[in-house]
Amino acid sequence: YGIDPDALVEGLNPNQRAAVVHSGGPLLIVAGAGSGKTRVLTHRIAHLLATGRARPGEILAITFTNKAAAEMRERVSDLVGPSARRMWVSTFHSACVRILRREHETLGLRSSFSIYDAADSQRLMTLVCRQLDLDPKRYPPRMFSRKVSDLKNELIDPDDFANQAGGTNNFDSHLAEAYRLYQDRLRQAHALDFDDLIMSTVHLLQAFPAVAEHYRRRFRHVLVDEYQDTNHAQYALVRELAGVDERERGTSGGGQADSADDEGLAPAELTVVGDADQSIYAFRGATIRNILEFEDDYPQARTILLEQNYRSTQTILSAANAVISRNAGRKAKNLWTDAGEGPLIVGYVADSEHQEARFIAEEIDRLGDERGTRPGDVAIFYRTNAQSRAMEEVLVRAGLPYKVVGGTRFYERKEIKDAVAYLRAVANPDDAVNVRRILNVPKRGLGDRAESVLATHAEKHRVSFGQALADASAEGEERDTTPEVIGLATRARAQVKAFHELLTELRDMEASGAAPAEILDTALDKSGYLAELRTSEDPQDATRVENLAELHAVADEFRETEPEGGLGDFLERVSLVADTDQLPDDADDAGQVTLMTVHTAKGLEFPVVFVTGMEDGTFPHQRSLTEENELSEERRLAYVALTRARERLYISRAAVRTAFGMPHELPASRFLDDIPSELVEWRRAESSMETLRRPRSGYGGGFGSGPPDRGGNLVGGRSGPVRTGKLGVGTTAAGSTGPTGPAASTASTSSATTSGAAAKAATKHPEGLGLDVGDKVTHDSYGLGTVVALEGSGSSAVAKIDFGSGHLKRLLLRYSPVTKL
Ligand code: ATP
Ligand code: MG
Repeated sequence: YGIDPDALVEGLNPNQRAAVVHSGGPLLIVAGAGSGKTRVLTHRIAHLLATGRARPGEILAITFTNKAAAEMRERVSDLVGPSARRMWVSTFHSACVRILRREHETLGLRSSFSIYDAADSQRLMTLVCRQLDLDPKRYPPRMFSRKVSDLKNELIDPDDFANQAGGTNNFDSHLAEAYRLYQDRLRQAHALDFDDLIMSTVHLLQAFPAVAEHYRRRFRHVLVDEYQDTNHAQYALVRELAGVDERERGTSGGGQADSADDEGLAPAELTVVGDADQSIYAFRGATIRNILEFEDDYPQARTILLEQNYRSTQTILSAANAVISRNAGRKAKNLWTDAGEGPLIVGYVADSEHQEARFIAEEIDRLGDERGTRPGDVAIFYRTNAQSRAMEEVLVRAGLPYKVVGGTRFYERKEIKDAVAYLRAVANPDDAVNVRRILNVPKRGLGDRAESVLATHAEKHRVSFGQALADASAEGEERDTTPEVIGLATRARAQVKAFHELLTELRDMEASGAAPAEILDTALDKSGYLAELRTSEDPQDATRVENLAELHAVADEFRETEPEGGLGDFLERVSLVADTDQLPDDADDAGQVTLMTVHTAKGLEFPVVFVTGMEDGTFPHQRSLTEENELSEERRLAYVALTRARERLYISRAAVRTAFGMPHELPASRFLDDIPSELVEWRRAESSMETLRRPRSGYGGGFGSGPPDRGGNLVGGRSGPVRTGKLGVGTTAAGSTGPTGPAASTASTSSATTSGAAAKAATKHPEGLGLDVGDKVTHDSYGLGTVVALEGSGSSAVAKIDFGSGHLKRLLLRYSPVTKL
């Protein structure tokens, strides 16, 4: 590589250096937050390559999110050059998918197998429980889904569990029955759920020694970040891949035949790094045991501790240490920093979540004005996804660019799931859950009755649900050889036929190599899905169209990076990204505030961090308050949250927070009590009554009252044109005082509707025809804007439009028509 290996250890402290150059047996690096664990992994990989101890293809590095993987690959490439891109750096799930796609035949799966996310698998479980006639009150499908997931994380398959459950008619025996049927149904659908990805790979490697050997020969170095969050299945996977337990397992068993030259195969070099204080996935079966007992599991292991924190100021570190030190049974650490004291932590007590959000927006603005802090330097954390809404509403109105990172936002939206269901149904005709999901979406007169007729037919003739559609559509001679679908009304039969023909047409497109984006467009057009949204009066549907356009953009981008990539490859990407990460970052995201749950923030760092909702019942979470183990986990979560901050840390709480539509008064988080008071400068909101200067319509409707005039810079300070908030929460005019009076919320809704109606009446430019750079346009959701660039033509015409305050959008005009003024 022409890289001096010594350069790679320059600037590292002695322990970090030792970890980078270590060679031989298994290596465990345990250390607190920000001590350079991830950096050491990256440098270690680069060092392996630079010294020629490994080729890129021999390295398997496992990180927790796709984003972390991409970052690691980038960093290593920066250090040693682009050939490093050939390394496998991925999450557990993506590594397993890659293995399973290669070995699908061994497992009897088709290569285009579907991957079910949590919502899909719960749908399937609901169908299963219904088929077993289980009372949903006593045996809630949601609970069964969770239990099955737990079992899979423990590598307990349906047979094992049935033996273990014993008895009849008790909870476990019903669960065992449901587990088995659920698993059968997955197999029939050529689908795997998320937990299966890991469990099946482990079973594959255990049952087929030749396969295991192939990967062991290949991966001579296995490195795992965030090891404290591995569950049993992942732990077993690492052992199988690294092949460290050869001796324990002995050489007996099926492996004999291929083991002629197996003798010489030394285990891979295994490096794991982690921090027991940051274990936050116990609810997914992660066990700190994996890190605490590493030395027992791998007797030759060497352990290296890192003690200097390079990330945060002493103030931030002291606060975090104070919180975590209350946990029982942990090894104390001496984490220190020479970054200096830094500014005090700012604590803020708000009256409501809306006020909390406004404080944060104002503060971000102020930091920008006074210190040049860019929105991209700032992160806002919350305990649960539902908390993001109030924050988003305020950021939209403040004109602050932001992005929400996390599972629920994009890929779990109904319209995205519907669109992806179409694609999955195309790629895998046996995928019952997805075919059934779209059977009557948009409504085509195939309701529950028709669905159950088809399901019964499939059951009776032991064919897939997709085949039942084909059977019902059979005509002419074919008709004589096809079992008849009994009980389908003539109209319904015609609809089934039309639906089946649509799927067939889409499959033909796929077979002839059409791009995923093209298949998506055709599906949304010919099914009438897009048309229905576009003619809808519901303002939310405009947002849905936007989201579908975004999905189209993702598909286009996918094709750019992988010109040969087919629909199956695209869906694989979607499934994996949807797990923990968000959409790929857009090009100009340097300036966006990041909103995320604390769970997704793991491993990341930001100059400025707001930790919100510090209330007992919010953070720590309500259900942890009576459970000591869960409370310890919440405390670790708080430790993770606080240690993300590099320079400035804000901790805030709301005296009253609305959850499930009800205002709740919540006491301060107990974690706040643990932070020494000299580290925090507390600020308290003036009472909302004085601050707002106008009556509030009570909690629930309260948000319509708008920001205080005093904070007018929130609204009018940025010189933006009239703009409708994307969430439909209000129309904001430059220099205006915002909506006034109790009627504010009504006013904002109606203005959104009016602008929508007006836009519909005018001429739209769906193909971008006649549009020029410099044209003024309006858009139903974003309001007034100016065209700054045009790309592409026809159905892929894209306009880059400035909607004010640097709010740039790339709109696919086909999905998001604008009106030229
Ligand atoms: P976490 O537990 O949160 O995952 P970590 O232990 O993985 O943290 P890193 O993210 O690797 O820590 O490092 C934290 C920060 O400190 C990063 O910005 C990293 O670049 C920096 N850092 C680590 N070691 C050094 C060093 N020797 N010199 C300068 N900066 C360093
Ligand atoms: Mg890290």
